[in-house]
Amino acid sequence: MTDFQAVSAIGAFHLPDDGMSSERLTRVAQLLGDDWMTLLDAQATADRINQETLGAWFPRSAIVHGAQLCQELLQHDLIQVSTNREYEFPACEDIPTIYATGGEMPDQLVGLPIEAIVIPGQVDAFSIRNSSRPLRHIIARNGYVAPQDKLLFAGSTYEYKPWSDGEATRVNRARIESLLADVSLQHERSFRASRVVTSDRLPIAGKIANQCWVSGAHGSGGTISAPFAAELIASTILNEVPAGSSGIPRLLAPDRFRHRQARRPNPLARGFRTGPSSA
Ligand SMILES: Cc1cc2nc3c(=O)[nH]c(=O)nc-3n(C[C@H](O)[C@H](O)[C@H](O)COP(=O)(O)OP(=O)(O)OC[C@H]3O[C@@H](n4cnc5c(N)ncnc54)[C@H](O)[C@@H]3O)c2cc1C
Repeated sequence: MTDFQAVSAIGAFHLPDDGMSSERLTRVAQLLGDDWMTLLDAQATADRINQETLGAWFPRSAIVHGAQLCQELLQHDLIQVSTNREYEFPACEDIPTIYATGGEMPDQLVGLPIEAIVIPGQVDAFSIRNSSRPLRHIIARNGYVAPQDKLLFAGSTYEYKPWSDGEATRVNRARIESLLADVSLQHERSFRASRVVTSDRLPIAGKIANQCWVSGAHGSGGTISAPFAAELIASTILNEVPAGSSGIPRLLAPDRFRHRQARRPNPLARGFRTGPSSA
């Protein structure tokens, strides 16, 4: 990944937060080992990022410029890009066809029950007017703050219900202010989009019919899971050993919700609908 211009490996700190207690962070550190992360005590974390708390340091974590990375990946003789919007999903009879269409997954085409919801969210960019200590790494704590091109990016909101105007920017500003006490920020721009999240938070990747594949519902982690799903699908089509451990295709299988719905109703059916992703 770090071979791409679009990727800046500046490292990340994960601090304990509402979804990640110190005990859980410690267990994660034991599972991942030193190759992935180092657990720092409160003093060491304070020395590095001025936060006196246990801190998990991921030295290889990177900021990825998504649009730029896609441009770099498309520089290949065998890839042709068409920007036509296909309102009828093409049949996949002759050659393998992979639908990677975000929230517009062809569930109506194959009649699979898909347990997924579309959740809008926002990232905000701020310039820094003054700060005694500039941020050099990504910090994740109830969301994240990431420095890039002299800006601080903060996100992402998860808007399960419609939020009032300006609320997302206020929440994202507060993320930075909770980490950099003396900072003075100027709002520069916002990015809004939606992600598709399944009931088990795993993407949907696999075969849905003869010659027909799907990769979607990547939730909040498409930068990691979409390339992995692509590799999984390509290796299966080419009869190569699939990427990852042998249980993964079953975990991501598009028909996994059918089996679950034989036992219980779709937990996402009330109050949410699947729909187009604007990401
Ligand atoms: C606010 C926010 C912040 C996020 N932050 C992160 C992050 O920090 N890290 C991370 O890994 N992920 C993040 N994500 C999630 C990430 O954006 C998604 O996981 C990822 O975009 C999913 O990729 P995808 O290719 O499945 O779908 P999409 O990115 O939605 O791409 C699908 C594409 O298919 C096209 N398409 C759809 N229907 C048709 C059709 N009929 N014909 C032709 N084309 C079609 C769409 O136009 C679109 O270009 C974030 C998402 C949001 C909303």
